Amino acid sequence: MRIVLLGAPGSGKGTQSQRLVKLLGIPQISTGDLLRAAVAAGTELGRQAKEAMDGGRLVEDSLVLNMICERLGEPDARRGFILDGFPRNLAQAQALEELLGSLGQPLDAVVRMEVDYDELVQRISGRRTCEDCGRVFNLVTSPPSGADAVCPKTGRPHRLMHRPDDNEDTVTERLRVYDEKTRPLIEFYRSRGLLRAIDAQGDVDEVTQRLTRALADLTTRPSHAGLTVRTARPSPARARRRAAAKKKKHKAAPRRAVKAKRAASRRPARKTAAARKPKRAARRAPAKRARRRRS
Ligand code: ADP
Repeated sequence: MRIVLLGAPGSGKGTQSQRLVKLLGIPQISTGDLLRAAVAAGTELGRQAKEAMDGGRLVEDSLVLNMICERLGEPDARRGFILDGFPRNLAQAQALEELLGSLGQPLDAVVRMEVDYDELVQRISGRRTCEDCGRVFNLVTSPPSGADAVCPKTGRPHRLMHRPDDNEDTVTERLRVYDEKTRPLIEFYRSRGLLRAIDAQGDVDEVTQRLTRALADLTTRPSHAGLTVRTARPSPARARRRAAAKKKKHKAAPRRAVKAKRAASRRPARKTAAARKPKRAARRAPAKRARRRRS
């Protein structure tokens, strides 16, 4: 399955991609992560990308396109991929279309993740990433907790870092750049019949469920045989909340209605006269017909 997650900074593309990786077994390809890794490693690409990234602007297309071409050529991308943060403008979308077309592997879907502006700002300011495993958390909406509090790489609590471009000034610029350069991709993909949209606000598990539902039909295509979207299970905390809500609802039901329901389930259903009649008539009918035939 080859998909693009499209959405503003803070819309949850990274968080949901990480979950889709587990559910679909295909890699997440995040241009932001690849560029940050290049900056951290001090490569030539990193050196050239850093200034634009620090200012919240887009890195030059030629750099990003070379990088993505290389990444898509790696063996793990053969079964499919989740593109996160790419394409980000029309030139990149057209280049991607050409590249995948030449490989005979076009995109299957583009999912637009919709979140209100105010919530985006709030999410970005609370965002933290583990320095070791790269997992994304949010101090307000999804802090590390329970089994997730331990980093799978180090076996110790996550070392959370605040991305340098997640500061207030840069965030405003990134959201402006999204509106100007990336938003037009919604129409680009809609006109190609690839666009799907989900409400990406609210509980993280619920958003994952909306996302897997939005993609569920793709797993039945013959070209994706063997790939299954395992329905996202609610987290233990969420499952507990649901069970408590169910219990409350049950208690709130009027007693008499509950009693009547229980009694009805114990009693064998009584037949009404009307229900019995047709049977008797049906029993008599052959005899009547036989008498008629005889006379
Ligand atoms: P977010 O989606 O939260 O803005 P990302 O991690 O996707 O964060 O990207 C961080 C920065 O990396 C962007 O602000 C931009 O400077 C650069 N970047 C990422 N992807 C691209 C891309 N496809 N084209 C150009 N620049 C990119």
